[in-house]
This record gives sequence, structure tokens and C-alpha cells, in this order.
Amino acid sequence: MNKFCIIDAHCDTIAKLSDQNVSINKYGDTHVSIEGLKEGCVDIQFFAACICARDINDSPLQTALNLIEAFENMVKKYGDCFYPITKASDIHASKRAGKIGALLAIEGGDALEGKISNLHLVYNMGVRLITLTWNYNNEIGSAAMDTATEWGLTAFGAEVIKEMNRLGMIIDVSHLSEKAFWDVVEVSSPPIIASHSNAKALCNHPRNLDDSQIKAIVEKGGVIGINFYPPFLSWHKADIHSIVNHIEYIAGLAGVDGVGFGSDFDGVDRLPEGVNGPQNFPDIIDELLRLNYTEESVYKICYGNFFRLMERILKGIGEEA
Ligand SMILES: [Zn+2]
Repeated sequence: MNKFCIIDAHCDTIAKLSDQNVSINKYGDTHVSIEGLKEGCVDIQFFAACICARDINDSPLQTALNLIEAFENMVKKYGDCFYPITKASDIHASKRAGKIGALLAIEGGDALEGKISNLHLVYNMGVRLITLTWNYNNEIGSAAMDTATEWGLTAFGAEVIKEMNRLGMIIDVSHLSEKAFWDVVEVSSPPIIASHSNAKALCNHPRNLDDSQIKAIVEKGGVIGINFYPPFLSWHKADIHSIVNHIEYIAGLAGVDGVGFGSDFDGVDRLPEGVNGPQNFPDIIDELLRLNYTEESVYKICYGNFFRLMERILKGIGEEA
């Protein structure tokens, strides 16, 4: 087996952990298991608290707080395995401790409910990445899958981005409408990421990125995480080759410094043939190595690109916001 370690910039596993009968410990209940993360040599896993379905019982903020609690319980229960990452130095500390770094994210800026004070609240709880929208338009901006997408980023959205820049939080443009995407590119001076999106040129889905968007992210120093959801990979049967095709395309278009992984494990109802969870990362890497990618390029795709971005953005300016 090859020796490359992985940063996976997106999974939705924590939503599944609120069910008492679900265990992350072993293969089976969830795509992402501790066993699978170890076998796949995943060094850092981003865990998203997704404000996905519109919950009729809880507000978006309360939904986020419930999921953050599920993340905290997971990190506490498996403290010998996970190391929470809130600043760049935690990446090294986690590695030294031989643990899996766990970065807490929110998917769906609906959680902020239009208030900057809620951004400070979730920052103080350890959130270091926000995917600005999920499938619905919200107070921050318009989403790729919603009906009216032409209004882009709002004034509140611009305020959120500037404050995220100041705090040292990662801005994630996956799920955004095209108009909102270009507004974010203009407003954010630090690099941005698309944590789980693919190339539209290979699979023409509204959730994927066109060539100019890919180039804009990479030119700013950002990274695109390849999403494993079959409908975003290919109109035909999706397998490990389909994942590698998107890596190849983005690396060919914008350079090898702009591509990584954002599996979307546990956020999707099916996976490509040959992929059941993080335990299959080595199979994907084997395929890249067969294509004669240099070890340095493979390192960047698996780990180095997101590592560089995290080191730059996660300044760790302290708990006071
Ligand atoms: Zn998503």
C-alpha cells in the first residue's frame, strides 16, 4: 500500500452521530469510520454541521448548535483518536500525538440567521470553515440549486466574509450560485476553497465549477476538493477513474497546487464503484501513481494543498472574537 496521507475537506458524518445506535468506531454505520480513516491514512478530516433539510422544530442556529454538540461528543468519546483543529499549530500537535485532526465546519450560512454575533458565537465554539450556502438562498447569498440565483452576495454576506477573513476562517464557495461566487472572489482577499465540487467541463451539473471559476480559485491560492458523489462525477457509471479524471482535469487546467479531496462522505446516498469510505483513498492514489504523477504532485493533491491553505488561513488569533 502507498504511504500518502490525506486531508479530506468535507464529510457530513456528524449529522448521523446524533442517532444513538450509530457508531463511528467501526466500518458499517457511516461512510467515515475511525477504522476507515486509519486504514486510508486520513490525517485531517473536516466535519461539517450541515444546515441541510429545513428543520421545522429547530431554527437554523439551533440545528447548528445541536450538530456542534454531536461533534464535541465524538471528539470527547474518541479522544484517543481525534484532535480538534482550531489553529495552524494544532495540525502539527495532532500529528505529533498520532491522532486524526478534526476541523469543525458549518455547511449553510443560514446558521448565522443574519447576525454577525452568531458568527462570533460559532467561531468561539471552534468552527473554522463556513460553506456560505447549502442548496437554498440565505441571508449571505444565493445558492446554485435554488430558483432565483441572480442576486449574488448580500451586504450581510460581504460583512461575513470580511469578518471571516479577519478571524482566520476558511471561506467555502461550494453550493454558491455563479453570481455569488464571483462576488466572493472580489470581496475576499485571502484564498477561498470549494470544499466539495467538481469540474463542469466533465460533468455539467449546477453544483460543479466551470473553467473560469476553477482558474479564479486556484489563482487566488485556493483549493478545490474533489466530490465523490456519482452525479457530480459522471453522467455514466462512476468509479475511481471518474474521481481521477476530475483531478486530472483541474490539475491540467489550473495546476496541481489547486486540487485536493472533499469526499462528501455521509452526505450522499451512493458512492462510486470501488469506494466505500476513507479506507479506499489508497486505491485512488494508486491510480494516480499509475498515471506517472510525481510523488511531489501526489503529496500536494492528497495533503499539501489543503495543508498550505490551512497554515495560511487558520491564524489562531485567540478565543476572543
Ligand atoms: Zn454539500
